[in-house]
Amino acid sequence: MNELRDLYRELILDHAKSPRHFGKLDGATHWAEGINPLCGDKLKLFLRVDDKQTIDSASFEGSGCAISVASASLLTDLVIGMDVATALNTFDAVTTRLTGRGADIDIAGGLKAEKLRALDGVREFPSRVKCATLAWHALNSAINNRSTPATTE
Ligand code: ZN
Repeated sequence: MNELRDLYRELILDHAKSPRHFGKLDGATHWAEGINPLCGDKLKLFLRVDDKQTIDSASFEGSGCAISVASASLLTDLVIGMDVATALNTFDAVTTRLTGRGADIDIAGGLKAEKLRALDGVREFPSRVKCATLAWHALNSAINNRSTPATTE
């Protein structure tokens, strides 16, 4: 179990240090800001959704702690190629899992979804749950096209 924990820690640090899909997105159709005042995490998530309601590209920018950046990086990796309905289900599954408010649901997406397990460690630290779920709240807001920033508060 410790080996797995080390692997997850490495994965988080890797994504925090070299975030995937970082920067503004050309031709974004949806975007939202996420703010976690408790930690000072602030990010903006961009999506490009095509006519078939598939997310054909995603990116984010902003700054925050390692967990918030790694979570956003893992999120963008996972949702590219997903249809928006599946992405919304994934938002539900991830936030439910990390907040421990419901049954642990399996998340579609194969290996990329498995990597989200790296975030599970935050469940022991309620203040870090907000860091890990921030990008997901921004995803939900972006898809629903809300103009107000998503906040963890
Ligand atoms: Zn944070």
